[in-house]
Amino acid sequence: MVELGPGATWINVYAALEPHHISTAGGRISGVGVGGFLLGGGIAFASAEKGLGVNNVINYEVVLSNGTIVNANEAENEDLFWAMKLPSTNYGIVTRFDMRTYPSSAIWGAVNVYPFTPTLASELYTQSKKWGHDDTNKDNMVSVAIMRNKGMSLALAVQVNEAGIAHDPLTSSAPIMHLETTGSTYKVVREVVDGALAATTRTRWHTITTKIDTEYFMDIFEKSESIMKPHDDRENILWSIAVQHFQKSCINAAKESPIFNALGQGKDDLLSIFTNNIRMEWANPDDDAALDEAAYELGTLAETEARKRGILNDFIYLNYADGNQPVYERSVTPGDMEKMKEIKKAYDAAGIFDRLWRGGYKLPVERGNMSQTDADNKHDEL
Ligand SMILES: Cc1cc2nc3c(=O)[nH]c(=O)nc-3n(C[C@H](O)[C@H](O)[C@H](O)COP(=O)(O)OP(=O)(O)OC[C@H]3O[C@@H](n4cnc5c(N)ncnc54)[C@H](O)[C@@H]3O)c2cc1C
Repeated sequence: MVELGPGATWINVYAALEPHHISTAGGRISGVGVGGFLLGGGIAFASAEKGLGVNNVINYEVVLSNGTIVNANEAENEDLFWAMKLPSTNYGIVTRFDMRTYPSSAIWGAVNVYPFTPTLASELYTQSKKWGHDDTNKDNMVSVAIMRNKGMSLALAVQVNEAGIAHDPLTSSAPIMHLETTGSTYKVVREVVDGALAATTRTRWHTITTKIDTEYFMDIFEKSESIMKPHDDRENILWSIAVQHFQKSCINAAKESPIFNALGQGKDDLLSIFTNNIRMEWANPDDDAALDEAAYELGTLAETEARKRGILNDFIYLNYADGNQPVYERSVTPGDMEKMKEIKKAYDAAGIFDRLWRGGYKLPVERGNMSQTDADNKHDEL
């Protein structure tokens, strides 16, 4: 077990765990914070086996809206413990996460970047399906992205094996960038994964969940190019569409959380559920409005098209969502929503965190004829 301060980033955590030859189901990039990652789920290298980050938290130390500090775990405040598996900023301020650890001396990681061609991208995507479907191969994490940077289209594949076993690349095509190492999680994050995903500046995310469909993925990228082409010259513009798997084994490992119910309790067909994650970054604040609009257009297009093709799953993964996406409305079953609202009443009856804490995603609340936006504006005026 490890006690984590929410202000730490995951690279601090992995650095501290490395000498003990242990690891935990944390973030996959150095700068991601412990706090936000663990309040929205948390897709980790080990998720196929261990579920999301939240499924590995065994105790939360939480400051409630009335100022009291409580622990939430299986024996104490069990209802809050359950809600804290998808809490965002509804229930309290976490001052400590206690997480399960596991022995880990060496994992293997590789990143390959290729010039984009439709054939190659389709090959990577098709290959990645193998891993997404394979819940007997839980040591592996594979993620594929197509991206456009400075007017150049690229395809990227990230492969990690938690048992430290090296695998062949997903394609025999020659990469223009190849990073690979075996070692602690700290080493793999720092030397391999970070190397491919440089620090972000101004960003916009959007996510949907779909079944695996190579043709859809390729079509969306093609359509995205026409939306994004006019923005090719904006400073440090980079955008990508990445796919990541929620394997059956991952969903099953998420058993005690609302996410498990929302994803259909790990039934077979959900082997094919992906998060499709659209991400944009840029440098100049003057580009914000135009790129916000482009991100919205792209996200809407991806969702509309997935719905039309019958491959959309309602689930919206909180950690990759845009601030305007209806995460709770779409990602929690009606029964769990009622339960979450009851728990909210028990721990923040006056809705202090709704009124005074503007960040994150809020559980939908009944406000008579006042919309959430009206209510927020009203709050601004006070
Ligand atoms: C480069 C990059 C890589 C990423 N990789 C992954 C990944 O591998 N897997 C994955 O699942 N996600 C990933 N994400 C998404 C990431 O999990 C979310 O962006 C997450 O919100 C980041 O948390 P933070 O603490 O850094 O952010 P912040 O913006 O600081 O926090 C996010 C939200 O959580 C709230 N919060 C933070 N700390 C606390 C606390 N102690 N108590 C209560 N509320 C709190 C904040 O108020 C805020 O609303 C990645 C993001 C980036 C930018």
